[in-house]
Amino acid sequence: MGLSRKILKTGRVAEPAVAADEQLPAAAGLGGSVQVRHVDAGSCNGCEIEIGQAFSPVYDAERHGARLVASPRHADVLTVTGPVTVNMAGPLRKTYEAMPEPRLVVAVGDCARDCGMFAGGHGVAGPVADVVPVDVHVPGCPPEPAAIVAALRGLTGR
Ligand code: SF4
Repeated sequence: MGLSRKILKTGRVAEPAVAADEQLPAAAGLGGSVQVRHVDAGSCNGCEIEIGQAFSPVYDAERHGARLVASPRHADVLTVTGPVTVNMAGPLRKTYEAMPEPRLVVAVGDCARDCGMFAGGHGVAGPVADVVPVDVHVPGCPPEPAAIVAALRGLTGR
C-alpha cells in the first residue's frame, strides 16, 4: 500500500477530544483552533520546559489546533506559569488586556494556582487568579506535556 493511501486510510490517531457539551462556552466560539500567548509570571521554568514539550513534535499540540503566537493581539488563549511576582503582575495584566475577546486564561502548574512552594515569598504578589481571571487550571509541579495538550484540546475541541 502506498504511503499516501495508508495515511488516508489510517486518519488521525488520537484519543477523542473533550465532548462538545463539556467544552467551555467561550471556547466553543473559537472555531476549533486557538492562538496561544504564553507569559512566565515568575516560574522556576520547570513548567516552561513541559510547555515546550507540549508543542514539540512528540506531543504536537498544533495538530489539535493550538498554536503559539508572539503577540497578545493575535491570541485567544493566555497560558500563565508560576506565582505572579510583584514585578510581573503589571505586565501580566497588560498582556491580558491587550488580547481581543473572547479570551481565555489557562493557569499551568501548581504555582499558578496557589503559589506552590513560593507562597509567602517576599517578591510574590499572589496566584494568577488574583491578577487575571482563570478559566482552566492544569495541576502538577510541573504538569506533564500530555496534561497541557489535553487542556488545550479542551479549548479547541479537536
Ligand atoms: S509548578 Fe513546579 S515546575 Fe511549575 S513553576 Fe512551580 S515549582 Fe516550577
